[in-house]
Amino acid sequence: MKRIYMDHSATTAVDPLVMDAMLPYFTERFGNASSLHSFGQEAAEALSDSRSMVAESIGAREEEIIFTSGGTESDNIALQGVLSREAGKRQHIITSVIEHPAVLNTCSFLESAGHEVTYVPVNSEGIVDLGEVERAVRDNTVLISIMHANNEIGTIQPVKEIAGIAKENDLYLHTDAVQSVGKIPVDVNGLGVDMLSISSHKIHGPKGIGALYVREGITLDPVIFGGGHERGLRPGTENIPGIVGLAKAVSLARERLGADSAHMGKLRDSLISNVFGTISDVRLNGHPKQRLPNNANFSFKHVEGESLLMMLDMAGIAVSTGSACSSRSLHSSHVLTSIGLEPDYIHGSVRVSLGRENTMDEVDHLTGVLQETVAKLRQISSPGQC
Ligand SMILES: *Cc1c(COP(=O)(O)O)cnc(C)c1O
Repeated sequence: MKRIYMDHSATTAVDPLVMDAMLPYFTERFGNASSLHSFGQEAAEALSDSRSMVAESIGAREEEIIFTSGGTESDNIALQGVLSREAGKRQHIITSVIEHPAVLNTCSFLESAGHEVTYVPVNSEGIVDLGEVERAVRDNTVLISIMHANNEIGTIQPVKEIAGIAKENDLYLHTDAVQSVGKIPVDVNGLGVDMLSISSHKIHGPKGIGALYVREGITLDPVIFGGGHERGLRPGTENIPGIVGLAKAVSLARERLGADSAHMGKLRDSLISNVFGTISDVRLNGHPKQRLPNNANFSFKHVEGESLLMMLDMAGIAVSTGSACSSRSLHSSHVLTSIGLEPDYIHGSVRVSLGRENTMDEVDHLTGVLQETVAKLRQISSPGQC
């Protein structure tokens, strides 16, 4: 059976061009970038070239890029770095209720350490209310962290407008752009952000590598300690193959942005209209327009998302779900809860996240399988059971 992968917001395959760029750095160019001999110089050169590639792709300068182990670490360094630096002075953060756990759980850690956090709500379409952000600002606020695009429902936040609020109140602004890079334009000056997180494996690069943009003039306290690598902010011998892969992935994402987003957007729109045309009692979660071109998050009334995911998997189609009704915790996604999705729908969600290599045939196939599977599940489930 041919398998169809439509879970690109979870992770992506490494692009062959990325792989080719990385390979020499595992073997003949294995040097430590801190070494003074020619092996070290080769690695240092790759490090510097990669840094300028990443910087250029997001409109930043080479000195403003720090390599990390991924999106999670970038978010941690940004939030903890600012709050630790400002300890005893400003200690209040503003974030949103629909952030990725990398931000939300860092915030709860910071709360436990005595900092204060305001979690700004979103509307039913998953967009942060600017008025609420503005009202949340206090005398001791130091940082706003609001994601560029949501990983579950794909909504794109008004980061530029939030930057206006940050500037007016002399606050730092961090955005998690892990999902938006490669799908919509990401430019640090266009967005007006001070810090921005990137992850490689969401954009056809390898896992375990990412970057944090830190605007010049901002000093963060480190979260981990060691040698002076990455301006002391992320010490440890640099993962050169990973960094080379990340740089290649980011620049490919930038190069292909126009074509990729047009292609994925066409598939996504067709998927949405097919689903609404063939299946009743379905919702599209998130904003109808202000969303990533590759994301469609559906909720089917009286269907259990995890069963739907399993049956799609048996049909060779990989998607993801925000609900895990069958696990004892009856866990449902904090994002779907935050947009106020009705109880009849909340456990029946699936996220389809498309990639550049998906085709219209695959989308048509998914629609057919979804139609059959939803009908089957509705037949066997009694309403309100989950
Ligand atoms: C995947 C993801 C992360 C975590 O990135 P890792 O590189 O896996 O640590 C953070 N934020 C968002 C929005 C994500 O989708």
